[in-house]
Amino acid sequence: MRARPTVQELPAYKPGRNPADLAREIGVERAVKLASNEVAFPPLPAVVQALATAAGETNRYPDNGAVVLTRALAERYGVDPVQVATGCGAVTLCQELAQAYNDPGTSIAFAWRSFEMYPLLARVAAARAIQVPLVPGRPGGPADTHDLDGLLAAIDDSTRLVFVCNPNNPTGTAVRRPELERFLDAVPEQTLVVLDEAYREFVTDPDVPDGIELMRGRPNVTVLRTFSKAWGLAGLRVGYLVAEDPAVAEAVRKTHVPFSVSMLAQAAAVAALASEDEVRARCAAVVAERDRLTAALRERDVAVEDSQANFLWLPLGEQTLPVAVALEARAVITRPFAGEGIRVTVGTPEEDDVFLAALDDVRSLTSPNA
Ligand SMILES: *Cc1c(COP(=O)(O)O)cnc(C)c1O
Repeated sequence: MRARPTVQELPAYKPGRNPADLAREIGVERAVKLASNEVAFPPLPAVVQALATAAGETNRYPDNGAVVLTRALAERYGVDPVQVATGCGAVTLCQELAQAYNDPGTSIAFAWRSFEMYPLLARVAAARAIQVPLVPGRPGGPADTHDLDGLLAAIDDSTRLVFVCNPNNPTGTAVRRPELERFLDAVPEQTLVVLDEAYREFVTDPDVPDGIELMRGRPNVTVLRTFSKAWGLAGLRVGYLVAEDPAVAEAVRKTHVPFSVSMLAQAAAVAALASEDEVRARCAAVVAERDRLTAALRERDVAVEDSQANFLWLPLGEQTLPVAVALEARAVITRPFAGEGIRVTVGTPEEDDVFLAALDDVRSLTSPNA
């Protein structure tokens, strides 16, 4: 049975390397996975407790409106519940947005390279992908930063959605308040700006704006957040959208895959929100380790830019794939983008030391000066 041509053309799903399989294959006790931007901490104690309680009720369907979670999110962010929609991970919300806003032949604009989901979204929605190349964040540096003027110029009458991933995955760079405000003020009102803030909790630069504050008074702006990264619930699949215009949240709720945010996910997210102090402390530890890892890489002459997320971008160009393969042979799984760079998640200090030692080993073999 043939699928739609656009679907036939999509790349087949390629599962990420599993650390246990890799460890067995190369005969070591443990492999380190720094490939998916999860946090290394175990689930919060309150989350484990909530899951245990909710487990006893899983013969029932979840609340399709996620009322308790929606209310908790609205309270946390100072918005009305009608401005909030939850999803089975933020990726599902991306899909629901495209379903709600993109007729075939319309377009979705975004920077490239950015989150890998965006081009797929456009294809599945039979929409055109408008990809605007990243530019150097500093003179002479690698192309790693949003070109908001370029993005604005690329938006046309057909553009229903424009994604701005801030901080950007995979480069870790972030756009600042004045440039983002200028951009939001100039985007046509029929184009919805989606500020993808999956890594917001790791932002430390006060000049990087909070999208939920920035969207106020701007009905064509919405913000995506997730419990997968800072909140430590990647395995449970829950994300959320906050929109200035309740019609945006409503459109997403209308295209929602019924019951796709599980009972366990809802209970865990509510418990995580109630443990925000612990989450903040964990984020602070990740940020401290991010600084240490950044400095350690710079000492090794790797040109990493400052990251506002929980990962670093190593712009290794043509060296990317050989280095990533060699790291994997040394039990360290990273996320390479061939010909461009390697994205490395900030792990525990121990994991990052394993990564640094493996990198030293790899570079001693490949560096012409060694
Ligand atoms: C991880 C990530 C998401 C969301 O992930 P979910 O697990 O689906 O919530 C969204 N956007 C970006 C840029 C991400 O890196």
